[in-house]
Amino acid sequence: MVEFRQAALDRPPQVNIVEYKRGRPKPGRDEEFHVQLCAQALCLEEMLGVAIAAGAIYFGQTKRRVEVAFDQALRSKTENAVVQLRALIVGGKTPVVRFQAKCKKCSLFDLCLPKTARPRCTAMRHLSQAIQHDVDEGSEPSNNGPRL
Ligand code: SF4
Repeated sequence: MVEFRQAALDRPPQVNIVEYKRGRPKPGRDEEFHVQLCAQALCLEEMLGVAIAAGAIYFGQTKRRVEVAFDQALRSKTENAVVQLRALIVGGKTPVVRFQAKCKKCSLFDLCLPKTARPRCTAMRHLSQAIQHDVDEGSEPSNNGPRL
């Protein structure tokens, strides 16, 4: 939600941005929410030509807003995330997903299918597993094809 507050008609409105979440704050573990909110603010700043110093996240379980300051550290972190995302898009790479507890409540679960993903299979991983298997079996390292 974007709020426009106008203190006086001859002044530009103050823009406030609020992101709504169903759960509750997780102190120290809400960084991804902060980056998401900051990314939205950066877009609004560019679109509207305004400066937005802070925004808020409203948590449904606590029915409270938590203010998030868009300081330089958060802006830099967000811009770095944008650069990494662009590199993935340009490189045509989809990041490897890792199933986590939060996936169960994620709206993208049916598209992402995190339980079906496996860590990226590399030649190095394959060789390490093959050698480890032979060591565990007490035999000489062999080359019997993939054992993944
Ligand atoms: S389901 Fe996919 S997009 Fe959603 S939290 Fe899990 S890994 Fe991320």
